[in-house]
Amino acid sequence: MNDQSSYRQELTGVFGYPVDENPTVVMMEAAFRALDLPWRYLNMKVRPEDLSAGIKGLRAMGFQGVNLTIPHKCAVLEHLDEVAADARIMGAVNTVHRRHDSLIGANTDGKGFLRALSDDGGLNPAGKRFMILGAGGAARAITVELALAGAAELIIVNRDESRGRELVALLQANSAVQVSYQPWIENLIVPENTDVLVNATSIGLYPQIDERPSLDYASIRTGLVVCDVIPNPPRTRFLEAASARGAITLDGLGMLVYQGAIAFKLWTGKEAPVDVMKAALAAEFARP
Ligand code: NDP
Repeated sequence: MNDQSSYRQELTGVFGYPVDENPTVVMMEAAFRALDLPWRYLNMKVRPEDLSAGIKGLRAMGFQGVNLTIPHKCAVLEHLDEVAADARIMGAVNTVHRRHDSLIGANTDGKGFLRALSDDGGLNPAGKRFMILGAGGAARAITVELALAGAAELIIVNRDESRGRELVALLQANSAVQVSYQPWIENLIVPENTDVLVNATSIGLYPQIDERPSLDYASIRTGLVVCDVIPNPPRTRFLEAASARGAITLDGLGMLVYQGAIAFKLWTGKEAPVDVMKAALAAEFARP
């Protein structure tokens, strides 16, 4: 028995469809164990048409919270009692937590990125210039947080122009950041005054495919901070190439752990054991 008076466990997890291969369970369960908390994290396969019933189920069963992944991040907003201001700007929630009987939506993806920048890169985004590759969900979360954190300039580069321009418009409407769209031309040059370059596309997700974002790698200067959102493998071909140019690199594993650590704190009220979480995920990713 956990505390000699109860066999009950606090429940958390993730709603997704598909969800079988989502590895967050590994780091969350490792964190619960490390802090000796009687908490569990479950991967729950919830079809899009069952989201409303799923949220009702969470309320009925007293879940402490859940993560949302594809395809629920946007659709979940209408089922919540409150949504944090940054998540409302993004139009996407990846973490729900409970306050008494209310379910509150947050988005920890961009905040996880900011924490990786500060804690692992020693970099405060205020006043810095960023070039972001991508305009999907990850790019949206990252750029909204950067804009709210006082970044001086964001250059959005995306293959699909209308999606890129849509993100620029969103950022202009909701922040004072200087932001522009740059078409993804061949031999894309990273401007010399750039402080941070971010791959926020899904390029590199499949390590068996030899691919990295197409750009002029000679324009990556020594000391440039280069980040990738791809968590597995942590050392992507993109980061290898940037590192070979003398860049300081931050991987997507760090971002994944930190966004989970922020969710962990929202749920449990406790600081997450990030080293334990990172080691658990790294071991999982290294499995043959
Ligand atoms: P989306 O599908 O919303 O967006 C994908 C983005 O990648 C789009 O900008 C798309 O461009 C671009 N893209 C995909 N393939 C190519 C290509 N061949 N050439 C150029 N651009 C391409 O996905 P998400 O933003 O939700 O996720 C992106 C990645 O981020 C995923 O791999 C995910 O695992 C990772 N991620 C990591 C997190 C972490 O904590 N480390 C958190 C969240 C996500 P276009 O618009 O032109 O199609």
